[in-house]
Amino acid sequence: MSSAERFPQRFLPYLTTTEIAHLPEKDRAAVILPLASVEQHGPHLPVYTDSIIVWEVLERALALLPDDLPVYYLPLQAYGKSNEHAGIAGTVTLTSETLIRVLTDIAVSVARSGFRRLVILNGHGGNAEIVDFVIRDIREQTDLMVFAIHPLLRVAIPEAGLSDDERTYGIHAGDIETSILLCCSPDQVRRDHMAPSLPAHLQRLKYPPFMGPLTFAWLTRDITESGVLGDPTQATADKGARFLADAAAQTADLLREIVDFRFDSQGD
Ligand SMILES: [Zn+2]
Repeated sequence: MSSAERFPQRFLPYLTTTEIAHLPEKDRAAVILPLASVEQHGPHLPVYTDSIIVWEVLERALALLPDDLPVYYLPLQAYGKSNEHAGIAGTVTLTSETLIRVLTDIAVSVARSGFRRLVILNGHGGNAEIVDFVIRDIREQTDLMVFAIHPLLRVAIPEAGLSDDERTYGIHAGDIETSILLCCSPDQVRRDHMAPSLPAHLQRLKYPPFMGPLTFAWLTRDITESGVLGDPTQATADKGARFLADAAAQTADLLREIVDFRFDSQGD
């Protein structure tokens, strides 16, 4: 995972309080909070996988923006809500209540620093529901314009190179995440320990469990023994590069939209 050195002028903690107070274009400036997880990713990927990926997407997206676009970012909030993996070694999870408080407290501080726009860049599926509802609560409490981007979760993933099974069931430590780490952190992939896991009982279900009309609560132990759901043996660094490039391009495009976003009620 890269450091914040790559874009020091955009990394808010590297600025002084005076510089932050007097940043130009404060009204348009978007402050990004990267959010991820520390949770088991099977025997072949580190527990920091989601954090590595969201940081990589962020840096690649920033590299696509013009230097004068007022976009800033905060340190990574690595701990997320990962109670589906609770009790599996290496997982560090916040409760829902704590994550709601953390996001709200950070948002209040961003608002009190004079910013108008906050973007939560979320890299972990288990955080998504909370992010989606808390942004409205933050808007109500702070008057911030609040946005959520879920790269590689809701932002479309390129069709090429993924099997049908992977598209339906490959939600964790499978082809996508393993390909991305092979691209950006290859030393972190334990290739000798990669094995597919697509449990037969899930494939017999009439309604696939992770999308479609029937949703249900699951814990990792309900659906996979290895902690993997998908087929990491299909992963390649080339595919990972495509997934990353696509996620970065879409994130950059959304950030351009965000700095000029306004509600009609705000007038001109
Ligand atoms: Zn993950």
